[in-house]
Amino acid sequence: MFFHIRDLEVRAGRFDVELAPGEIEFLDPKLRQAGPLKAQGKVELVTGAIGEIRVKGHVSVVMEADCDRCLEPARFPVDADFELYYRPVVEPASHEIAIDDSESEMGFYQGDGIELNDALREYILLALPMQRICREDCKGICPACGQNRNQKDCGCHAEAIDDRWASLKNYGR
Ligand SMILES: [Zn+2]
Ligand SMILES: [Zn+2]
Repeated sequence: MFFHIRDLEVRAGRFDVELAPGEIEFLDPKLRQAGPLKAQGKVELVTGAIGEIRVKGHVSVVMEADCDRCLEPARFPVDADFELYYRPVVEPASHEIAIDDSESEMGFYQGDGIELNDALREYILLALPMQRICREDCKGICPACGQNRNQKDCGCHAEAIDDRWASLKNYGR
């Protein structure tokens, strides 16, 4: 769903969408949409700022990602209000464009407006935790034998430590 700046100048746009998995490309092979993504809200121009667009609303979706430690699928429900701001991309006319902290949260759009799916993707990625783990105490995969240590204790923890010391010794030579 595309919101054209010319239409937004006349009136705010509204959206109420339900997107099936695959309609938004997350560009991360470890990340999947596990169910429909529902979003409702409003797209409007910010008064007093030329060409600045605000996307505000509510989104709910269940995302699924491979756990960073054990690689098993882990679920990350997102159900939140969001607010994103976009400014038009400007040609760098001067070298004095300082980007302060508040501005780093600001997105940019190119062309005549914004694509809702891009904004939703951006928010979902922001909403997910940096470290995607299936549970706080996930034991991960044994580096020695590849066993998922949440399922079974492979018993080669001691050997893995021995290996590390061995390689350290090799560095000393
Ligand atoms: Zn895990
Ligand atoms: Zn092991």
